[in-house]
Amino acid sequence: MSPPSSLPRAVSICEVGPRDGLQDEAPVPTEGKIALVDALSATGISRIEVASFVHPKAVPAMADAEAVWAGIARNPQVRYSALVPNTRGAQRALDVGITEVNVVVSASETHNKANVRRTVAESLDDIAEIIERVHEARGRCRVTISTAWGCPYEGEVPESRVVDIARRVIADGADGVSLGDTTGMATPTRVWSLVRTLREQVGDISINVHFHDTRGTGLANVLAALQIGVTDFDASVGGLGGCPYAPGAAGNIATEELVAMLDDMGVATGVDLDALLRAATLAEELVGHRLPSRLLRIGPRTRRVPAP
Ligand code: ZN
Repeated sequence: MSPPSSLPRAVSICEVGPRDGLQDEAPVPTEGKIALVDALSATGISRIEVASFVHPKAVPAMADAEAVWAGIARNPQVRYSALVPNTRGAQRALDVGITEVNVVVSASETHNKANVRRTVAESLDDIAEIIERVHEARGRCRVTISTAWGCPYEGEVPESRVVDIARRVIADGADGVSLGDTTGMATPTRVWSLVRTLREQVGDISINVHFHDTRGTGLANVLAALQIGVTDFDASVGGLGGCPYAPGAAGNIATEELVAMLDDMGVATGVDLDALLRAATLAEELVGHRLPSRLLRIGPRTRRVPAP
């Protein structure tokens, strides 16, 4: 069946469970994290965010970032990245050879203070230096703009805030931006609007989207983004994780739910759903509780149950 508007034929998914997911959990043993990344590496996924190089006191669950990075078995088809909050974290990441660095700033001043304990202006100055260092190391640096569609503390975030930040970081050399819907405040019309505004006012930049299903609009927002040609998506295996500084923000979209939907729509992801479901089961074992993914419970739509 042909879609009402032409959709991209293929997308690139960045698996963020090992970072965005596990940072919210009680610390998982290093070997468990390595096993999860290795399981994900075998699914055909194109990108994995392995860890966050944050201060161990801020996020104890990520204190072993170096050990995880050193321990994973690298699949040459996968691009492995790390998230960094500041220059110190960036230097730690560069020191262990990471060349795909994702640095974060919030569009909302209050959320930025809570997340990285500095003003947005201070973060942006820091980011300019991080981009320079990453480029000196011949790496790529993407900037995640959190709370891009709204902030749990401040409410509405004007699009102009996101535009100003994107314009600044692109001028400073960023290789792309990622828009974070940190607490699931986006809806399809807001996705169309913000992406269009950025393209009109900042230019033809690489845009990745990071949706949360906190309010049930996660996959609807994915479809909206696809309809306007976005092809880079973050998702988290099992629906692991949220944001430690945004109350009630659990609910990254589940990678297997994203893949299952796109598979059936004929949008290629390169991901083997069965292998991904095995990785999701492993993730659930590692954290020791049920994960929010519904697909993990019910299985793909082709799975049959015995007739009554
Ligand atoms: Zn997230």
